[in-house]
Amino acid sequence: MTQINPHYQKLQAGYLFPEIGRRVKEFSAQNPQAKVIRLGIGDVVLPLPEAVRSAIKKATDELGDPKTFRGYGPEQGYDFLREAIAQNDFQARGAKIEADEIFVSDGSKCDCGNIQEIFSLDSRVAVVDPVYPVYVDTNVMAGRSGHYQDGRYANFVYMPATAENNFKPAFPKEKVDLIYLCSPANPTGTVLDKKDLEGWVAFAKKHEAIILFDAAYEAFITDDSLPRSIFEIPGAREVAIEFRSFSKTAGFTGTRCAFTAIPKDLFAKNEKGEKVSVHALWHRRHCTKFNGVSYPIQRGAEAVYSAQGKKEVTSLIHYYMENARLILAGLQQTGLQAFGGIHAPYVWLKTPNGMKSWDFFDLLLSKSHVVGTPGAGFGPSGEGYFRLSAFGFRENILEALSRIKNY
Ligand SMILES: *Cc1c(COP(=O)(O)O)cnc(C)c1O
Repeated sequence: MTQINPHYQKLQAGYLFPEIGRRVKEFSAQNPQAKVIRLGIGDVVLPLPEAVRSAIKKATDELGDPKTFRGYGPEQGYDFLREAIAQNDFQARGAKIEADEIFVSDGSKCDCGNIQEIFSLDSRVAVVDPVYPVYVDTNVMAGRSGHYQDGRYANFVYMPATAENNFKPAFPKEKVDLIYLCSPANPTGTVLDKKDLEGWVAFAKKHEAIILFDAAYEAFITDDSLPRSIFEIPGAREVAIEFRSFSKTAGFTGTRCAFTAIPKDLFAKNEKGEKVSVHALWHRRHCTKFNGVSYPIQRGAEAVYSAQGKKEVTSLIHYYMENARLILAGLQQTGLQAFGGIHAPYVWLKTPNGMKSWDFFDLLLSKSHVVGTPGAGFGPSGEGYFRLSAFGFRENILEALSRIKNY
């Protein structure tokens, strides 16, 4: 019989969200009258901006006319979108990224997950703990980890980010090759400032490591002096790759469009110790395994950068960030210690009296009928914490807060 990839059996079977679903279902079956409010999932609720929808419709009509029909597009994305991205997301903020350093894709989850395959299986992986599980699981699948024990995979370097270090992970003490950073961070909702990123760039340079920087939530940064891209930091072009997505920014979670920026100054080495361009490798990989995002969706993404698109996106972000502000203030009023929520749509709270995160989940569900995400599901250092998402309708957020306060 055909053998499977043995590394898949090291994975902790998609535990977090299925387990949340199971507990909510059980609770609802026993309490059919309870109106459960879900603040657990990182998915947007507000509709796609009008500017985006009309661009998608117009592009769809072009495809219905033989004179303007298009088949396969360039694998890396159409120039109109790559140029809009390079100008608006990077050059306008002083980050030197060119259009041909942008790779458009159908999702940042895929990009963050796939990027590891262009690096050696011997690469040592460092992740912040707690973390977006994609970075960890895809490296487990590839075979870079040992077995799972006590909440960790052997061979990975975990960098704790907790209230004790102000959610700023310390540099690894051992040699690492790939460093995954996410800022503003999912799940903690905290952000790295310019000095932090300068430190990481200097660290990566000194130790010849590559930073895989996930900026999926950059649009939620409310203080304009904070970096939105790692490429705002001098020297980052030689040590970093950045992942971005239209998912959370512009409501594209179901529509699918994202991109990765890989500077041409970034090199890794081959077995002989010779320098190889990472951009060229990813280009090769992308052309072989990906055939582009659909034309109407790329036109929709381009419309995010139009004057009307920018206005609409800003108002989406304001809506969620007002939710986040209300959650943070509401929790603090109840005496709970809460973090994040200022530059990210997530609030990360410390469970009261050292309660385990799953126990707090059950308590919140049974007493307030509110669903959140137990911190332990994001890594061992998430134990004792709990995530509430600001992606929800205002009335539900207010109702959830008033129930939490009353309890
Ligand atoms: C939502 C999210 C993404 C974006 O994923 P898409 O596949 O582009 O929808 C990337 N990174 C993190 C940390 C996220 O939470």
